[in-house]
Amino acid sequence: MNHPATYQGSRVVVLGLARSGVSVAKVFHQLGADVFVNDKKERELCPEADELTALGISVLCGYHPDDLITEDTALLVKNPGIPYSAPPVAQAEAIGVEVITEVEVAYWLSPAPIIGITGSNGKTTTTTWIGELLESAGMKPIVAGNIGRPLCEAALEAAEDQWIVAELSSFQLKGTDAFRPRIALLLNIAETHLDYHGDMDDYVNSKAKLFDNQTPEDTAVINWDDPECRALSALLAAELLPFSLYERLETGVYIDPPFPLDPEDKGGHTVRQIMFRQADGSETAILPVDELGIPGRHNAANALAAVAACLAAGVPPEQLIEPLKQFKGVEHRLEFVREVNGVKYYNDSKATNPAATKMAVRSLAAPIVLVAGGLDRGSDYMELVPLFRDRLKGLVAFGETREKLSRAAKLAGLARVEIAEPSEDAESVLRQAVKQAAAMAEPGDIVLLSPACASWDMFATYEQRGRIFKDSAHTL
Ligand code: ADP
Repeated sequence: MNHPATYQGSRVVVLGLARSGVSVAKVFHQLGADVFVNDKKERELCPEADELTALGISVLCGYHPDDLITEDTALLVKNPGIPYSAPPVAQAEAIGVEVITEVEVAYWLSPAPIIGITGSNGKTTTTTWIGELLESAGMKPIVAGNIGRPLCEAALEAAEDQWIVAELSSFQLKGTDAFRPRIALLLNIAETHLDYHGDMDDYVNSKAKLFDNQTPEDTAVINWDDPECRALSALLAAELLPFSLYERLETGVYIDPPFPLDPEDKGGHTVRQIMFRQADGSETAILPVDELGIPGRHNAANALAAVAACLAAGVPPEQLIEPLKQFKGVEHRLEFVREVNGVKYYNDSKATNPAATKMAVRSLAAPIVLVAGGLDRGSDYMELVPLFRDRLKGLVAFGETREKLSRAAKLAGLARVEIAEPSEDAESVLRQAVKQAAAMAEPGDIVLLSPACASWDMFATYEQRGRIFKDSAHTL
């Protein structure tokens, strides 16, 4: 696309309301475009529409009209979650109307450079952490994107000397064109969202768009331990700043001595330092990994990525130490809830795929009773069998995937596998699952909600699922 101001007098269709749609519609309206907003949801479910109609913007809710995408439509800005197969999007693509997401618009508007963070897992944690690290270095970052605040809002507020720290999903990135983050982070690539992307290639290509417009003045922070991420580094125009848990890198951010490859091998009492080695070979020790504010090897990887991004943004290494220690993590990500009868309860509701659940289970030392299950996206969960065998004491499965997960647990030889009986009342099913897990656990054990699945078969959001879990644990 071109700068939003060039669409003055042209028809711009915004598909999907929500906060990012509202923000985009207002931008184009203020710049004099002829904005038309459409959402399939009924009007009663679109309270945001009132604000736009009050400004004189046309809004239609309830269905997609056949004549939404006209020959003279200059641009379609779609909500990232709307699939490309949705009729208006397919129609726009068929007649050559450019289809983009709000991220692209924000890029054009922002006077501030952008740090863009993507990956299958760890985005919110790393984005939040980078925000806190920059804040504590006095750099007044604005944290936005997939994490809650629309990127356009941040772009309008930002000044040239600030950083926008943007969490970016593959859905958002697929709809970009000129978007160029000054610092781009790719945390990892796991098999997820295949229902939206169709195949792995489309998913990887969408993530890779983060680097497409970077130049040698920019930085690409890449997970060197992930083969898919490493493969992409061959195509980069930007300066590569890799990070690794397992290798002493020639240039980059790494752990010294590196972690053993076996995730179960805790490596005794070795002190492992986070190190930064520059192109000239000079090395700086930043902090022992054990002193990071949050546990788990995956969080050590998130810390390395955050450190790399902040170093690229010009933060002196010594200013990173305190905020690396003080970080308390983000709600619903391996969040400690309480201890009752000697059993600790952890809420990891945000683990919406098996890779995230593996990380959570491996981060905790005690015997674990896992509470898992949710939306069935077609996976058979056989990849979890070794983890279940090595690390679980028991499993309570719920939701659409309950049978698949309990089959995997039985194959793993777990003696205690139960299903929380399905019912119309989703909340009572999860409460029941927590009671079953509590009955299985003994003093010294952990009950962990880390579902390995999205929540939408039973709950509106993973936050709702996490809150019900926490409340159940508090009322045991
Ligand atoms: P995202 O925003 O990408 O969904 P979050 O930071 O919200 O990621 O973390 C979601 C879940 O993913 C966490 O609960 C944790 O179990 C897992 N996770 C976090 N960081 C990583 C990582 N670097 N690699 C793999 N799994 C991770």
